[in-house]
Amino acid sequence: MAGTRLDRWHGAYSRRASGMTASAIRALFAVANRPEVVSLAGGMPTLEALPLDDVAEVAARCVRDDYAASLQYGSAQGDPVAREQVTDVMRDVAVSCHPDEVVMTTGSQHALDLLTRIMVDPGDVVLVESPSYVGALGVFRSYEAAIVHLPTDHAGLDPEAVVTAVRRERDRGRRVKALYVVPHHQNPSGGTTSIERRQRLVELCREERVLLVEDDPYAHLGFSSDPLPAMQSMDPETVVYLGSFSKTFAPGLRVGWVLAPTAIRAKLVLAAEASVLCPSAFGQRFVASYLASTDWRSRVKVLREVYRERRDAMLEALDRYLPAASYTRPAGGFFTWVDLPDGIDGAAMLPRAVQGRVAYVPGTAFFDDDQGGSHVRLSFCFPPPERITEGVRRLAAVVDSELELREAFGDALTDSPLATHEHGNVDRPPTDTT
Ligand code: PMP
Repeated sequence: MAGTRLDRWHGAYSRRASGMTASAIRALFAVANRPEVVSLAGGMPTLEALPLDDVAEVAARCVRDDYAASLQYGSAQGDPVAREQVTDVMRDVAVSCHPDEVVMTTGSQHALDLLTRIMVDPGDVVLVESPSYVGALGVFRSYEAAIVHLPTDHAGLDPEAVVTAVRRERDRGRRVKALYVVPHHQNPSGGTTSIERRQRLVELCREERVLLVEDDPYAHLGFSSDPLPAMQSMDPETVVYLGSFSKTFAPGLRVGWVLAPTAIRAKLVLAAEASVLCPSAFGQRFVASYLASTDWRSRVKVLREVYRERRDAMLEALDRYLPAASYTRPAGGFFTWVDLPDGIDGAAMLPRAVQGRVAYVPGTAFFDDDQGGSHVRLSFCFPPPERITEGVRRLAAVVDSELELREAFGDALTDSPLATHEHGNVDRPPTDTT
């Protein structure tokens, strides 16, 4: 209703709010959350592998023994004990840093928001992968950035395309402010940026004076590999690193962090103060105490096993039921990116998929331009393996009937209001922005 005459406040919104529009898909997700629907849409981590008794004990201690810190306001930069723990986590991605260099945030989503707030004016360019994380696109849009997608393959962004784009945008008189990359097990493609590409991207961003934003929540979730060195370790003056405990511990706590060049860090802290005064002290003390008092790295190994089994279930089901599609084979993380058989529009098909009791996120959500129509993102993080298999089986049945319809009616089908390619009806982020 926002932005229509039915809304009494139509005309009162800020200009930046005009970029915040709901898609037709949002309504479908209300239905997709019903128990009879297998949702391969959400990016919710599983909480099954958590040692709940230990976690409860940590929470109790936070209240009983630590209330003076955990239930009080804290500093805008974040709790010193939590920042200390972050320095230990950062060693896993080859970064050695001091707690003073860490800024704690309300999840990495808040870090994205703060960073965009301090770096981007309306019309400034942010370069992103193809596809790119829907939640980041939402932030960039809300600050009226000009989002430019760059060619991306299985090894990550094409570095030469970065140079071409930077020059082209500057020639057009636009300021290129940042390059946004999810380097491990990307959301939504599942791809990982190779070490060579990392080095080259850092080099290019340094030369071109473009800030490289490294959003790395899936670093620890490689199924059979340890994390690659962070780009931040290659040049801390060029790269801002965003980390999160949402996937390795619990997203409900909303605890993330940032490492940034000194001057940017100071502005981030000021922006954080204006935004939330300080991130949740309880969340930070809880996470810090969990990390200090449990063998959390062994727990992450268990998680990796759980996700690997789910990834296997998804790929086996896709191989078996949807051989006409092509899809990525992620080595970690939560998602696979599926290219549907020729002529099928993922957004247009969604209502029929939900009717067929399976949900996914259409590929268009991961682009700010008109790409992604033939793709969908399937997540394997939340449902158990047998539900994943059943979900893919249902999806394949919907695709089959879609192909039959297409054979019978041809292009007339593209008149669906949800069709994307032909109408340029690019989806705004659906409810499920994780
Ligand atoms: N970045 C990426 C790439 C993500 O996939 C997500 C969550 N799905 C986030 C950031 C936000 O995570 P957080 O819970 O830390 O805000």
